[in-house]
Amino acid sequence: MSYSLLIVCYIAASALFILSLGGLSRQETATRGNTYGIIGMLIAIAVTAVGTSLHGSMNVTGSGYAVLAASIIPGALIGAVLAKRVAMTSMPELVAMLHSFVGLAAVLVGIASHIAPIEQLTGTEHTIHAIEVFVGVFVGAITFTGSIIAFLKLKGSIGGNPLTLPGRHVLNLAMVLGCVVLGYLFLTGSPDQSLTWLLVMTGIASVIGVHMVMAIGGADMPVVVSMLNSYSGWAAAAAGFMLSNDLLIITGALVGSSGAILSYIMCAAMNRSFISVILGGFGSDGGSAKGPAMAIEGEMTEIDADDTVELLRDAKSVVVVPGYGMAVAQAQHTVSDIAKLLRQRKVNFRFAIHPVAGRLPGHMNVLLAEANVPYDIVLEMDEINEDLPETDVVLVIGANDIVNPSAEDDPNSPIAGMPVLQVWKSKQVIIMKRGRGTGYAGVQNPLFFKDNSRMLFGDAKKTVDILMGKLRD
Ligand code: NDP
Repeated sequence: MSYSLLIVCYIAASALFILSLGGLSRQETATRGNTYGIIGMLIAIAVTAVGTSLHGSMNVTGSGYAVLAASIIPGALIGAVLAKRVAMTSMPELVAMLHSFVGLAAVLVGIASHIAPIEQLTGTEHTIHAIEVFVGVFVGAITFTGSIIAFLKLKGSIGGNPLTLPGRHVLNLAMVLGCVVLGYLFLTGSPDQSLTWLLVMTGIASVIGVHMVMAIGGADMPVVVSMLNSYSGWAAAAAGFMLSNDLLIITGALVGSSGAILSYIMCAAMNRSFISVILGGFGSDGGSAKGPAMAIEGEMTEIDADDTVELLRDAKSVVVVPGYGMAVAQAQHTVSDIAKLLRQRKVNFRFAIHPVAGRLPGHMNVLLAEANVPYDIVLEMDEINEDLPETDVVLVIGANDIVNPSAEDDPNSPIAGMPVLQVWKSKQVIIMKRGRGTGYAGVQNPLFFKDNSRMLFGDAKKTVDILMGKLRD
């Protein structure tokens, strides 16, 4: 394979990855985006395998390709089976595990390329390569151990409570400074010594990864997984520099920056600070409250299925707010049927999606797409909030924090400042949940006590099945 053909293929794969990210940003184009990504990755793997001999002194023989096939084929099969089997709610676990592989790969590539560099470099080129190796291994080791801890926390194998050692920020800083000193020794020492410094730094960076993620509450892990996604991208980009592989640099940069943007969007939607997430303080600082939360007055008023159906029959406009409880109950298919039925009866029926509804980004969009809900009736928070005052009935199905008015009204609430769906402005709100418990943030919701709110208690799936049966009659 000629070098120019290799470059053309790399450019094509890079373009496909960019198109893939563009496609994934909208529900309508997500499948196409996925297909672009798959084709891009197939080209990347095939061309890299075939074109490796073009790199410096590397000359891959037949047995080399046999080893490559022996690792890629079982890996691809295991990956396909795991991805097929994984439940939507366990997706963050799988993603965390995959990030740990990227981190480990960056560490191994870095150490290998230090022990046996592809090209013998001298002077400034050697220094730049050494910096690439050091930084790549540093980021890779943090990503590797941090992702394993995130996986174990999400799986429940280790406790979800944040580990807050006294002076933990100082400890982190001391470890980072230690790595900087080791970096200096690595760059200036003899080859034998520099391997020792590299391995010592790998150990310290691994401890930083463990400590950083241990300091974060278990339920906050999805944001951390998105952060680690970003780290894994930068680790891959660093590996690309070490291997002089332009495609790996581009792919790593795309993953790194898109992961950082996603983390930023999630933090903004949860009103958390991006910096505190990077520093590993997320979920353990107890929020910014300066006093006790506002007392809630009034009582919850219940409603039954018959009265709810009456309200829905009379309504001209209905909005459904799905949340984590709808995902747990797997109620999306019946909710989709209710939407179809009411739309046939000329009701203006829409879904309102909060950016962090559920437990992972896009959770609700995926559930609704799976239940064949048309995209044009699925609206984002900013699009639907101004229509809510004119809405006759809002059905809140297994959602809680994302419709909590104290985010706007109570500066001392732990979720103060988080943008929310203003469902209380509609004419009537029906809240479906099993009991009087709180949501993920653990705060009481004044919405449940408002005059225009009614509580429809029960498992979301059972409740919507009953509603559907009665609406059909
Ligand atoms: P919440 O966790 O706030 O509320 C879910 C509600 O569903 C609970 O009040 C629960 O009440 C109810 N519920 C649970 N199971 C059922 C069931 N089987 N049937 C009916 N109701 C049920 O979820 P939201 O979606 O409103 O908000 C998401 C929260 O998760 C936000 O605080 C967000 O910040 C956080 N988060 C989101 C991430 C994301 O990426 N999307 C990432 C990390 C955190 P009850 O027990 O009474 O039934």
